[in-house]
This record gives sequence, structure tokens and C-alpha cells, in this order.
Amino acid sequence: MIKVRNIHKTFGDNPVLRGIDLDIEKGQVVVILGPSGSGKTTFLRCLNALELPEQGTIEFQNSDPLFIDFASKSVKKEILALRRKSGMVFQQYNLFPHKTALENVMEGPIQVQKRDPKVVQEEAIALLSKVGLADKINLYPYQLSGGQQQRVGIARALAIQPELMLFDEPTSALDPELVQDVLNTMKTLANEGWTMVVVTHEIKFALDVADKVVVMDHGQIVEQGSPEQLFKHPQHERTKAFLHQIR
Ligand code: ADP
Repeated sequence: MIKVRNIHKTFGDNPVLRGIDLDIEKGQVVVILGPSGSGKTTFLRCLNALELPEQGTIEFQNSDPLFIDFASKSVKKEILALRRKSGMVFQQYNLFPHKTALENVMEGPIQVQKRDPKVVQEEAIALLSKVGLADKINLYPYQLSGGQQQRVGIARALAIQPELMLFDEPTSALDPELVQDVLNTMKTLANEGWTMVVVTHEIKFALDVADKVVVMDHGQIVEQGSPEQLFKHPQHERTKAFLHQIR
């Protein structure tokens, strides 16, 4: 469904992504693991054009196909299309502090997609209920726990009705006791058939939920496979070293 080919991204003279290829099937959960600084976040940000690679292509093969060649000069329209197709959940939630949970979720569909506010409001309430926050819709971020704020972040990403959900270490800023609620919400989405790419260090989540685990190191994918395969029989020395370190 989604074909990513030969993504290169350099910051200054630091080549952070050095030729990333990845296939993501519809409904798949892909977990990206790897040491800090290996390029995971940068890659995720390239998947919704928050970072623009110098080179590489992203292709959505479905009823609303999209092909972006980042090396070509005029990709503005395609970049906007890519942003509409993918919803991002950030490590630090990135909610608007002066807007309620409900207003945060309604922002994208109304401001960016220009959809009917009445319909959007109904959908936003349903989404907030889905992530377990039906009784919190009128609260501001500062009145919510980190885990609740992150679930608002998930509802907000879902609100644009994306084809692809991107999660950038969604639980790493949370107190340990709040992590499970967020992981459970993500598990529910996976079971509902959402296509997801998740950067995380939560190995148990990867084992339980991922269809494919990808290990990055120094801007490249060094190994990928089913969680079974990868955790039980890692092939690459760098995968073994990384797994050893986090276990
Ligand atoms: P990871 O998510 O695996 O920890 P990142 O993608 O965050 O890795 O970072 C990979 C490398 O890219 C790091 O060396 C980081 O310092 C660098 N980097 C990331 N974003 C920027 C940026 N906006 N400007 C300059 N360097 C960056």
C-alpha cells in the first residue's frame, strides 16, 4: 500500500538518513526500533513531510494514489496531500494550551480541512470517547495528566481521518504508571485495522502488536522482520547489540 524508497536526509553535513526503503501494507503496524540518534524520528517526520528529504520517493497505492519524488522541484501539491494522508502523534503531545481537549481535536478538520463544524464536533466527541476521555472534553491540557493529554493527541491525529498514523515515541515523556493507558489505546487502533508506524522502545508492545519490526542504525535499516523472528533470531550484529542493551 505504501512504498518508501531511497530516502536521504542530511542536516548540514550530517547524513541522518542514508537510503531508507520500507513497504507498509494496509492495516499493518510497523514498529521502528534503534539506538538514539539513528534517525527514527527524522524518518517518521519525512513520512508526513514535516522534514523534506533531499532524495527518495513515497508512493501510496490505493484508491487515492499519491507519488512524491522529493528530488523533483515542484512537489508542493504532493506534500500537502501527504500531510492530509498521515496523522502524527508527538512525544510531547504538542496540544494547543489555550484550547480544550475538544477544541484541540476539532482544530485540524475545521481550520485545515474546512469541514462542517457541527459534523466535526460530533466526530471529535466520538473520538475523545473512543480514547476514554468522554468526561474530559471541556478540560484544558493543563487539567489533564500526561497520559490523558497524549490520548487527546491521538484523537486529534485521528480527526483528520488519515490513512496512516505515525507515533513518535508516544509514551516516552510519560510517568511509568500512565504508559499502559496510551499503549492500550494504540492497541485498540491496531485491532481496528489502522495502518500505523510507531517509533518506540516498548518491546512488549512491539511483540504483542507489531506485524513488522524495523531496526535502524546510523540512518539505515539494518534488519526487519516479524517480531518473533527479530527478537528471537536477530541476524545482524547491530540488532543483537541493540536488543542486548535494552533488555
Ligand atoms: P532518533 O529518533 O533515532 O533518536 P533523530 O532522527 O532524532 O534520531 O536524530 C538523528 C540525527 O539527526 C541526530 O544526530 C540529530 O542530532 C540530528 N537531527 C535531527 N533533527 C535535526 C535538525 N532539525 N537539525 C539538525 N540535526 C538534526
